[in-house]
Amino acid sequence: MIIPEIIYSTAANKCARCHKGKIFEKNNPYSFKGPFEMREFCSECDLKYEREPGFFYGALYVSYALMSGIFIIWFFTDLLWIHMEAVNLAILVVSSMLVLFPVVFRSARIIWLNFFIRYNKKYAEKNKVILHPKLIDSKDVNN
Ligand SMILES: [Zn+2]
Repeated sequence: MIIPEIIYSTAANKCARCHKGKIFEKNNPYSFKGPFEMREFCSECDLKYEREPGFFYGALYVSYALMSGIFIIWFFTDLLWIHMEAVNLAILVVSSMLVLFPVVFRSARIIWLNFFIRYNKKYAEKNKVILHPKLIDSKDVNN
């Protein structure tokens, strides 16, 4: 299933292909030192994250969809339960978008990467061979 793999990769800040290496340097999107610093390659499977120059421009579409989701959630919450004035709703929506920006920015990039790179068990198991030489004899490690 692709959806649980995308959710895991996004939530855990893990490489799209091996689910082992980190994509962003810091796991905390609200850390003060470099919350938006991405690694160039996966430390475990050597996947180059930025596949071509400008690859992550496409993440803008994912970011737009996520921000629209925030707006829709607030809109229907207000429509069904809260019933506040339009100005207050606008302030609430904009402030929640600003607060959630680091999470949305990182999630959009990881989701965009997951659209093109699928999880592959072989890359996840590849490092076991390096870490545990006794496993080299097992059947389908190198296939
Ligand atoms: Zn990887």
